Amino acid sequence: MSGAAVVVEHVRKSFEGGRIRALEDVSLTLEPGELVALTGPSGCGKSTLLNLIGALDRPDAGEIRVDGKDVGRLEDPSGYRAGTVGFVFQFHNLMTTLTALENVQVPMLGRRSRGAREERARSLLAEVGLRERMESYPPTLSGGERQRVALARALANGPRLLLADEPTGALDSDTGAQILDLIRRIREEHGMTVLLVTNDDDVAAQAERILRIRDGVLAAPPAQQTVLNGIPGARESIARGREQFGRGEGIPLDEL
Ligand code: ADP
Ligand code: MG
Repeated sequence: MSGAAVVVEHVRKSFEGGRIRALEDVSLTLEPGELVALTGPSGCGKSTLLNLIGALDRPDAGEIRVDGKDVGRLEDPSGYRAGTVGFVFQFHNLMTTLTALENVQVPMLGRRSRGAREERARSLLAEVGLRERMESYPPTLSGGERQRVALARALANGPRLLLADEPTGALDSDTGAQILDLIRRIREEHGMTVLLVTNDDDVAAQAERILRIRDGVLAAPPAQQTVLNGIPGARESIARGREQFGRGEGIPLDEL
């Protein structure tokens, strides 16, 4: 498996007949296998953008291409969501009446045989460190354990793109750091592209690149540069990424 290439071009999205302008004009590129953090104040349009990339909704204008396909015009958006994308949300959205093992199998229903589903779910739960809790129900798990189940479920169909919307937002900082480590490890092992929405500067700083939205447009304000300045090698690693991929957007290096 490898990561998906994501190209967002001049995307606009409003709600309630245009009264709420969530995204004004957003363009960005994610290289295959890249881990990018998306930050910005509450209400600035982060979840809206993730939902559009995940084909949970369609842009009003502009285009989003994932591996060259316009996801606003898919014939089978649910097939794309199930087969190409893995979602992790702030609140795990697990089914409380199903065990961890059953929850992880849900996205595989109708796509694999019963035996293959269960075998894969077991191996994914082991991978996220929940070998001992496979038969547990979500209400009996800790917040961090539930997020691990949610992560295993997101990986069920081998996504090429992982969209994580504040996955550590409801966790204490130690647990959040563990979940982030896990996401990074999974990204390294599976090679998928990861777009990680977070309001936590420490979390964002662990990404290869930080994109910031403010009032519906992408920006790179001073606060973020300060954070990067404190991290040894951050500036160099971004510069390397740019050389490698020739990216123009994101953080203005000169100002770091
Ligand atoms: P963030 O994730 O950055 O906090 P959102 O993308 O959720 O922000 O929301 C951006 C703006 O769009 C907010 O003003 C929010 O209230 C509005 N919004 C988001 N989804 C909807 C919706 N389905 N209907 C109406 N307004 C919405
Ligand atoms: Mg949000």
